[in-house]
Amino acid sequence: MVTNKNCILRLSRYKNALYRFKSLGFFKIFSDYLADAVGVTSAQVRKDFSLFGISGNKRGGYKIDSLIEKLNDILGKNELQKVIMAGAGNLGSALIKYKNFEKEGIKIVAAFDIDPAKHNSRLPVPVLPLEDLEQYVMINKTKIGIISVPDIAAQHILDVMIKAGICGVLNFAPIQLKASESCIINNVNLELELENLIYFVNALQKSPNVRISDKIP
Ligand code: NAD
Repeated sequence: MVTNKNCILRLSRYKNALYRFKSLGFFKIFSDYLADAVGVTSAQVRKDFSLFGISGNKRGGYKIDSLIEKLNDILGKNELQKVIMAGAGNLGSALIKYKNFEKEGIKIVAAFDIDPAKHNSRLPVPVLPLEDLEQYVMINKTKIGIISVPDIAAQHILDVMIKAGICGVLNFAPIQLKASESCIINNVNLELELENLIYFVNALQKSPNVRISDKIP
């Protein structure tokens, strides 16, 4: 089993690039075109694919449709992934409204909030009391959760999610959460990303010849 996060991130990027090539009418692709589209070397593409037993044809390259199918299979995208969310505030509501998740086989199925004013079980994505989270997750066998509550509440929410059976969490709260190894936590922090970007833009402006490496994992 491959446990390298960057490798899996690259697979997602290959898959997205393949959809773009397909929409342009391509049926087959060589690793160097794919590498170029994603910003890695063609050796890296072949190495990543070989880890999953994907092989191309030296003369003909890879068949785009079958490659997309294999990548979707590896990424768990050939079945709809149900996701729950805690915190239906500004960020949570924006994520619920975002239409493209479903195109990618990801569906936010319910949100949970402590504010009774936000509760509405008749919405397409119902907003339910936090107390209902555990039972909902157990009944619907949901494995993935999103945390979009204030940082002060995030650890408690994580504990509730894990107790219910959630084993993968996308955490937007700007706080380091603690969990056992049975739960994978991916943190998203736009502020950190912007700060990082600002640093490198400033560095580039100060010394235009500086090489900024490792932009793409
Ligand atoms: P918000 O105040 O609009 O929404 C927070 C929601 O969480 C509210 O609806 C509130 O009722 C609910 N809530 C509070 N405590 C709760 C609990 N214990 N259980 C369930 N629900 C609870 O805030 P927001 O702007 O949507 O931000 C939400 C979180 O996302 C914050 O931690 C914020 O720092 C973070 N954030 C991260 C990024 C990022 O890039 N990572 C960007 C924006 C916001």
